[in-house]
Amino acid sequence: MTASLLNRLMELETAVSYTTPPPEGERPFTYQAGDLPILVSAPHATVHQRCRREKGEEEFTGALAQLLAETIGVHTLYSCYRLMDDPNWDRSSPYKTTLQEIGQSRDIRFVLDLHGMSNRHRFGLALGTMNGRSCPTFEPLILQTVQAQFQQTSQAAAKSYTDLHWDHFVLNHARFTGGLANHTITRFATEQLGIPALQIELCSSARVVERRPFSQWPTPFRGQPEAIQQAVTLLESLVGTLLAAF
Ligand SMILES: [Zn+2]
Repeated sequence: MTASLLNRLMELETAVSYTTPPPEGERPFTYQAGDLPILVSAPHATVHQRCRREKGEEEFTGALAQLLAETIGVHTLYSCYRLMDDPNWDRSSPYKTTLQEIGQSRDIRFVLDLHGMSNRHRFGLALGTMNGRSCPTFEPLILQTVQAQFQQTSQAAAKSYTDLHWDHFVLNHARFTGGLANHTITRFATEQLGIPALQIELCSSARVVERRPFSQWPTPFRGQPEAIQQAVTLLESLVGTLLAAF
């Protein structure tokens, strides 16, 4: 089962061109409509620019968003070509405008914003709820769902780990709060669109099936199949939890 999941993620990631600019007249992101009132967003699936500095793609977040659309029917919005801005940083961006249009024209009751963090933080998953502000009604249920599959730890404890604990998660790590001062997608959905949202950061081992040859990241890398499988299972169960709570 895990092997076919990994193969499918590799196929889906080919829809994402990390560094290529969009063809003339096309946007650097794709929206696929779904049947469920949940949108999975992956604004950093490709190379993007924050304050004129280039930032590398968050590999396989685009594949994961597409996979959830395919397997359970969520709406999805993800970057598929090089971005000249940072939708998770800039106050306004074409990505945010599109998200707003989707929110106004479709029945979207929750936004899951997917990101990738480095293994150097030594834990698997960071959940950001803007310190309790982005989805207060759902946060206890979300926490319960995650706690059933991942072990909760603190930022301080994670700092003392000497190796990666991919099955551990931190809620509202200071670096991954989902946006207190920054103009994140989570904050935009919550404050501007009135749609509750959650930011999810997955470590490299829990999402990167195999680094592609033209990645901006220099060294070959393979994630851990078990970790990737568990991350997918978690994302699917989070959607289930939310649907049951609406
Ligand atoms: Zn990101």
